[in-house]
Amino acid sequence: MQDPQLNIAMTVSCTHSEGPGKRYALWVQGCPLRCRGCCNPEMLEITPKHRLPVSQLVDDILTTKNIEGVTFLGGEPLLQASALAVLAKTLRQHGLSIMLFTGYTYHHIRKTANPDWNALLAQTDLLVSGPYDAKQRSMKRAWIGSDNQEVHYLSDRYRSLKDDPQRWRSTPNSVDIVYRNGQLTVNGFPTDALETLRTQLSKRG
Ligand code: SF4
Repeated sequence: MQDPQLNIAMTVSCTHSEGPGKRYALWVQGCPLRCRGCCNPEMLEITPKHRLPVSQLVDDILTTKNIEGVTFLGGEPLLQASALAVLAKTLRQHGLSIMLFTGYTYHHIRKTANPDWNALLAQTDLLVSGPYDAKQRSMKRAWIGSDNQEVHYLSDRYRSLKDDPQRWRSTPNSVDIVYRNGQLTVNGFPTDALETLRTQLSKRG
């Protein structure tokens, strides 16, 4: 079986703050874009962080109880699209949904027609595309940082969200703060308070 590796910045095994329902969230390391106000600056450098085979991530995710899906964020997931597509395909075969955040616009993705990107999109249920734009920062939609970012329903899995856009607005943005095995992780909507906390934590290593 094909078992490519992924370069991972961080994982959170159960969060309500990165998409619909309870989700496993996976942040990849490395992004070529430089959005002003990016909330994950430590994940931008394209450098080896935690290199893990897809099979190990599959085992970890499938033993996580009561999640409805997995969210890929970063960093830029499309830089590792080939391995993420393999991971996503296996997870979907087990009934999990896939949500993907990318800094590239949908127009750019379709125009580029990169086969690896297309393979990942073929395994994606819910796509949020476009760079974070601090000038259009908004808390109007759950999980999404700025008004320019677009939502694409690439399967019927989240049709109820599509048919009821008000739910994007009525779902509150939230932050998860977890202390586990001596490690504190903070994820969720990047409020100023969250940014201050993340900065303090990264200074302490
Ligand atoms: S695309 Fe995402 S990770 Fe990359 S710089 Fe922009 S906000 Fe940061």
